[in-house]
Amino acid sequence: LFERHLVALAAEMRLSMAEVYEVASFYHHFEVLRDDAAAPRLTVRVCQSLSCQLAGAGDLLARLPALLGTDVQVVPAPCIGRCEQAPAALVGQRSIGHATAQDIVSMSNEAVAPVNQALTAPETIAFEAYRQGGGYALAQDVARGARDAEGVMAALEHAGLRGLGGAGFPAGRKWRIVRGFDAPRLMAVNIDEGEPGTFKDRFYLERDPHRFLEGMLIAAHVVGCEAVYIYLRDEYPECRAILTQAISELQAAPELRGQLPKMELRRGAGAYICGEESAMIESIEGKRGEPRLRPPYIAERGLFARPTLEHNFETLFWVREILERGPEWFASQGRHGRQGLRSYSVSGRVKQPGVKLAPAGITLRELVDEYCGGMAEGHALYAYLPGGASGGILPARLADVPLDFDTLQPHGCFIGSAAVIVLSQHDKARDAALNMMRFFADESCGQCTPCRVGTVKAAQLMEAPVWDAATLNDLSTVMVDASICGLGQAAPNPMLCVQRYFPHEVEP
Ligand code: SF4
Repeated sequence: LFERHLVALAAEMRLSMAEVYEVASFYHHFEVLRDDAAAPRLTVRVCQSLSCQLAGAGDLLARLPALLGTDVQVVPAPCIGRCEQAPAALVGQRSIGHATAQDIVSMSNEAVAPVNQALTAPETIAFEAYRQGGGYALAQDVARGARDAEGVMAALEHAGLRGLGGAGFPAGRKWRIVRGFDAPRLMAVNIDEGEPGTFKDRFYLERDPHRFLEGMLIAAHVVGCEAVYIYLRDEYPECRAILTQAISELQAAPELRGQLPKMELRRGAGAYICGEESAMIESIEGKRGEPRLRPPYIAERGLFARPTLEHNFETLFWVREILERGPEWFASQGRHGRQGLRSYSVSGRVKQPGVKLAPAGITLRELVDEYCGGMAEGHALYAYLPGGASGGILPARLADVPLDFDTLQPHGCFIGSAAVIVLSQHDKARDAALNMMRFFADESCGQCTPCRVGTVKAAQLMEAPVWDAATLNDLSTVMVDASICGLGQAAPNPMLCVQRYFPHEVEP
């Protein structure tokens, strides 16, 4: 963004320069530049999250500037959602997995154009194929009233479908709550998937975008939402092309004319905090992505001050399947007394990383052995992160705990979006915790002091060979008790787990 554009925007929108600048300077993928001469030809973002770090991203980041030349900007990036292909990078608007320095150099030498609209991954189920498989019949039934709203909500409740973005709020109950507020109502879909280690939404979106769109339409019809805003992270340029195409196919279908809400695809600009529901709403409204204080909850007063149904991508992805197969089918899945299916994003030291659709309540040991081909060659299980950066770290001796909502809290952890990162005897839990704390320090929105200052201070303290446990615990109490949102409240989790389960790494 050039300064002249910011000045012009302020004049055009009758905003103060400060208001424009505070938004422009908030997001990682915006950079405010004085003039054209200061602009790099290309930006390469090298993912520095844990799975990529384990796969050598630090070395890549150190070597690339000398190889790429001065007109290419190389920057470290928080998780770009390709953990199963670590190390990963974004070369302009193109992603690259299993990245080598050589691949990145040759990609940066090509004319790196933005991903064009026609691009779809080879495995993407196209509109026609989806229709032929019975797609959108259910959405049409709901729109015409052939399936009543009450029956749909009851089925979701009976199935036990919960929000799969991390919070786990029961989906059917949420629909009922938002429906209870006066129209006009809106819907916001969260595809910001920024939790380090999580890549399930990208995985499904690349393969079956219409299944998600159909779930979204059903939700909009049942709850009575007149417009839907889909917020997609900027790190997924290929998904943006797929979704843009899928939405236009949907809008062009004559049989669905008159049955579609207004749909807008909004592009994020690089900010982990925008995965928090109220921060995402602020961002859609064109502001800094700062979480709101609640109450009021967004179900009552959300996007543009309207009652808002907000859902994670994957929650909507399962709606058609559950309604067609019946809630009993979904509820009958599960292990160790848990119900349903979970899409675990598995990365780190396993033989076959990737998205694993497995029973809720499966244990880490079962997940690795049955779904990931076991540990990678030469690696033995040492520790694992059950829920991304904020979900804590557990030792190998707790590899038989069922992985699900509500099962990990007694151990100081939570499942969140089911981002499972596996560590081996070659890794240290303290290094993982430091990586996470640095990530939180970078991603704190800065709105409240306990989080903004606490994450930075904690990261500094965690660099010491022996940790100052008393100060870290004090800091953690303040962050947990006094931060506004989940980022600051959960940031100490990995650090606390290291003190609890891996004291030999940080004590004298
Ligand atoms: Fe922002 Fe952190 Fe406060 Fe959340 S806890 S509002 S991310 S400063």
